[in-house]
Amino acid sequence: MKENLESHYGQLLGLESPWEVTSVELELENQKVEIRLEHAPSEPVSCPECGKHCSIHDHAPERTWRHLDTMQFETRLKARVPRCKCQDCGVKTVDVPWAGKHGRFTLMFEAFAIVVIRNASSIQAACELLKIHWSTADTIMKRAVERGMRRRGSEPIEHLGIDEKSFRSGHRYVSLLNDLKGGRVIDVAEGRDEQSAAKLFEGLTDLQRGKIRAIALDMWKAFINASKKACPGADLVHDRFHVAKHLGEAVDQVRRAEAKRLRGEGDDRLIGTRWSWLRNEENISDDKWSEFEVLRDSELKTGRAWSIKECFRWFWQPHLSRDEAEEYFFDKWYSWAIRSRLEPIKKVARMLKRHLPELLNWCEHHITNAVSEGLNSRIQTIKSAARGFRYFANYRTRILFFCGKLDLSPFSSAH
Ligand SMILES: [Zn+2]
Repeated sequence: MKENLESHYGQLLGLESPWEVTSVELELENQKVEIRLEHAPSEPVSCPECGKHCSIHDHAPERTWRHLDTMQFETRLKARVPRCKCQDCGVKTVDVPWAGKHGRFTLMFEAFAIVVIRNASSIQAACELLKIHWSTADTIMKRAVERGMRRRGSEPIEHLGIDEKSFRSGHRYVSLLNDLKGGRVIDVAEGRDEQSAAKLFEGLTDLQRGKIRAIALDMWKAFINASKKACPGADLVHDRFHVAKHLGEAVDQVRRAEAKRLRGEGDDRLIGTRWSWLRNEENISDDKWSEFEVLRDSELKTGRAWSIKECFRWFWQPHLSRDEAEEYFFDKWYSWAIRSRLEPIKKVARMLKRHLPELLNWCEHHITNAVSEGLNSRIQTIKSAARGFRYFANYRTRILFFCGKLDLSPFSSAH
């Protein structure tokens, strides 16, 4: 019976000679299973560095690996791993078939943990299910991301998006490079200056960089410069989300100044209306709409600013040719904006004019950071789940773990 149990565990672990299970101990009251493994002493081992066959020199102290639970029993493997004395490399601890070099878990446990972490509602929930500490989950994710990044292929990417995201209560930033079609994060770098952005492109091969057709980005000099240097052949496209954000901020500035002035005159029409002005027309609820319509059509500057902002949305119609977008739309919109006597609006209009060629590139590529925005909300979840990260490296690991579409499996992809 006992022998059967041992060979059964050997089979479960996929162990082949020269490794065998020598004992299986069951601790009923602690709900634990301990499996002892031994390497046949007469069998040769391979040097972990050069692969040469050597004889066993001695054994390293006993180590423990956490394995998949057996039913609800926490299961651990224990073994003294042989050390070989290689003529070229010296004394080395040999590799074991069930775990990575310094891993404290079997590959099967790690593979299972990755699936649980990916699918659990939070890292904390995954840790409870797996009965591991959060720092262990961090280590598993870190190793998984390193593996996945090493395995990344050099398949062509057509469209990239580059974006920024706040980090640590909004005082610092990270930059992200996204594969727009693939809906994945390519990499994350600390900061949002040109150097950080340049770092993002380093993960791509020369061939990949040469084949990028277009990059969606904000009118931010550091990102523009880095993109031009890394992918000189790609068109830059200033995308609608960023343009809308700049215009929205301009409307808000106009509103704030005007609300203050009106309040001084005892007029509180603009009090509490901030959110209505930030919304697009179709997102204002019916009961607010009539109220809003009155304000919009009044002599208020805020209403005028809002109309100029809303009108710019016509620019993004997909059927407009480059010439049409410029002559029939932009030129007219620009002169309206610039004669509006609304400083914040004029400022954004001038900025758009300065970046007009890249704005018009939209007519050829129709790309936006919309995908990035979707990824951003996932990243937001990651950020709030961890209540801000102390270290950038942990933040990057989690983003790439969840949004990098990496092959994270601890088994080589050939399996
Ligand atoms: Zn060797």
